[in-house]
Amino acid sequence: MAKNHFDQHMHSAFSYDAEPQNTIGHVIETAIAKGLAGIAVTDHLDPLWPDEAAPSTLDVPAYEAALTAAENAYGDRIRFAKGIELGFIPGEALRICEDAVSGYPYDFVIGSVHSSAETPIDLPPFHEGRAVKDIVDEYYTILLDSIRHYKNYDVIGHINGIDRYTDGFAPKKAYMPYIDEILRAVIKDGKGIEINTSAFRYGIGSRGTPTQPILGRYKELGGEIVTIGSDAHRAADIGAFLEKGEEMLLAAGFRHIAVYQNRQPEFVKL
Ligand SMILES: [Zn+2]
Ligand SMILES: [Zn+2]
Repeated sequence: MAKNHFDQHMHSAFSYDAEPQNTIGHVIETAIAKGLAGIAVTDHLDPLWPDEAAPSTLDVPAYEAALTAAENAYGDRIRFAKGIELGFIPGEALRICEDAVSGYPYDFVIGSVHSSAETPIDLPPFHEGRAVKDIVDEYYTILLDSIRHYKNYDVIGHINGIDRYTDGFAPKKAYMPYIDEILRAVIKDGKGIEINTSAFRYGIGSRGTPTQPILGRYKELGGEIVTIGSDAHRAADIGAFLEKGEEMLLAAGFRHIAVYQNRQPEFVKL
């Protein structure tokens, strides 16, 4: 693998849905073995997670201690970013996110929508008996509400993530007004978006996160900050399809990716 690949979204065993043997040390060793230039480990913090059957819990102090230890152990062998992926739900959950992020020197913070206050967005209760338009409305309303009130993040994760789960792709006219509003807010606030390459891994590239038109629209509106991440939940997927993400960026007219350290983007030429 060429030198300049950065995978800035992945999960270690600290995440409820990642493989238990996938320790942060194993993640980093794997990334080094694959020849990646840099990675961010971004485990889930989903405060007030509504699914009791599969609780998303993060032992924040233990996680932060493990990130610091990993930085000390591997920092001279790979560019390592201490990251976290926040699960946005408007209200109290965002206050808990703020406490976690402001209490530790994270390098990189992803903000994502994984659930409503009532249910994860990938489970039947979010979908059953509802029109695709209503599902999409609720998803983007949660995201927009969150970023209006919460600014302590760097990029939005899988911006159109709901497209992975809808029964039939939402019509463009249903979601483009939301996407526009979100992208404008992101740009105004000095934040960015990510290309989450897991769609290629799942074989649903046509429902890419983002799609090529969304990425093009971001560029058109003046967006500059884009990270790329595999969203790996097991070591085998680390670095997967990063080249696809780079191709998408080039096709949209971008010439750089953003690589985060100390919450600041550095622009690395593609
Ligand atoms: Zn996510
Ligand atoms: Zn993730």
